[in-house]
Amino acid sequence: MKSTMEWAGLKRAVRCVRCARNFEDREGYCSMLFMGGDGLLREDYCAPCWDGADQGRRVQAISHWLGRFKAEPPKQKEEPIAKNAVERLLRKYLVSKEPAHINFCYILALMMERKKRLMPRDRVTEPGTGRRIIVYELAENGESLFIEDPGLHVSQAKEVQKQVKELLDQEGV
Ligand SMILES: [Zn+2]
Repeated sequence: MKSTMEWAGLKRAVRCVRCARNFEDREGYCSMLFMGGDGLLREDYCAPCWDGADQGRRVQAISHWLGRFKAEPPKQKEEPIAKNAVERLLRKYLVSKEPAHINFCYILALMMERKKRLMPRDRVTEPGTGRRIIVYELAENGESLFIEDPGLHVSQAKEVQKQVKELLDQEGV
């Protein structure tokens, strides 16, 4: 039996899962997260469909949160290097199970949260393992990213912050 689930990232849908209407810019939506046999499943609802959503389905959700849809911004030619490097490192280590990398991800996500690039939406405790997962959404496109909270003590967090800074230095930031 697999002891841990894959917590990586899940894209936000561009339309409501129930009525299939495309979300409009600035429109509020509600997302639910389910644990299925094949892993995590995310469903995004428009407000009327959310209000009418089956209560039984809601009870099965391991997490839900409200967001606001943002139409995809036109692709920028060049993004600031610092912005890229933090996200690039986060995605690189997100797929790793190594404790040191889990710590890196936690600190990198906090850095993005401070810059308002990641919005914390919910916290989930993984059944069976008790791992604590922070459900984030990427501000620019609503993609959900799942970051494990390793429960670092202050002194540990400081040490990891130092290591992350060194990693970013190596990236030339
Ligand atoms: Zn709908």
